Amino acid sequence: MKNTAHNITAEEAITEVTRRFSEKITPAMAAVITHDSDPVALQYLPDIRELETRPEEHVDPIGDHTYSPVKGIVHRHADRVLFKVSSVCAVNCRFCFRKMMLGTPEETLNLQEVDEALAYIENHPEIWEVILTGGDPLILSPRRISRLMDRLEAIDHVRIIRIHSRIPVADPQRMDDAFCQLLNREKPVYMVIHINHVQEITPQAEQIFRRLHRNGVTLLSQSVLLKNINDTVEALESLYRKLVEMRIKPYYLHHPDLVPGTNHFRVGIEQGQLLMKNLRARASGLCLPAYVLDIPGGYGKIPLENAYITSVSGGYIITDYQGRNHTYSKN
Ligand SMILES: *Cc1c(COP(=O)(O)O)cnc(C)c1O
Ligand code: SF4
Repeated sequence: MKNTAHNITAEEAITEVTRRFSEKITPAMAAVITHDSDPVALQYLPDIRELETRPEEHVDPIGDHTYSPVKGIVHRHADRVLFKVSSVCAVNCRFCFRKMMLGTPEETLNLQEVDEALAYIENHPEIWEVILTGGDPLILSPRRISRLMDRLEAIDHVRIIRIHSRIPVADPQRMDDAFCQLLNREKPVYMVIHINHVQEITPQAEQIFRRLHRNGVTLLSQSVLLKNINDTVEALESLYRKLVEMRIKPYYLHHPDLVPGTNHFRVGIEQGQLLMKNLRARASGLCLPAYVLDIPGGYGKIPLENAYITSVSGGYIITDYQGRNHTYSKN
């Protein structure tokens, strides 16, 4: 073991891993784990490789702090803000892009800070969409969620409310009928569910998806591309087909961010591009998310999928999904 200056046992190393980022899993997720290296276990069980950090890794990999005008708000794009209403989650994903910020006092909003964040949104008429995120926004009490939704609905220029959550999958027990009804609003509510593998979909989660649909919530998914978890075309295809069958549109496949101690989860961008190309060759367009990278430093997300088009004199060469080239003329 060469993780620290002196030799430590594997047990001491795990203790250090969980001191930095505690182990947290729900009964629902523990129940679907079949062995300790299956695609769910690998997302939640602490691993001594988390102690290995690399120079390119960063505490704030996607530059949240650079674009935060008031506590809890990230305003990078004019028409939308992230509103980080909670700093905790139902589960702790070992690869989490905000793992260095979760649960810290600097990230936890008190009621006055919530008011200040809402005032910022009120005072910026260009904000068309508010994205509730965290941590996990749905960890809040039903009363706080309901009040937050009321306040957002009351701001005229906010037309869209989006919620990013892992709870429908990771902790479906939280979302009873009454809870889901709180999300039934006059304004459109979109929910982007974080899910990485088909094994995470339990009958309870399916019930929550139906309940959310009944309450008018539009469902999308986002996944992180993770080594040994979903980095095969078969894994992605079965996840996305199942999601589409459940009326959930795959939205983003994130290239993993440069979070400290997550190198063992990262795959190369070329591999991600190849996976997307193979997925495009065999699955319905409904099953294709955008494969994106959050540029380190806070420069936003960009699509990473291979270019299917090259500019040449007088026109373009276009490559189809089977790899055949075609010319397309410039007019
Ligand atoms: C990801 C992100 C959004 C949302 O981007 P979409 O492409 O609209 O999903 C908004 N603001 C920030 C700062 C983000 O990182
Ligand atoms: S649910 Fe999201 S924010 Fe929470 S630990 Fe997992 S990846 Fe991080």
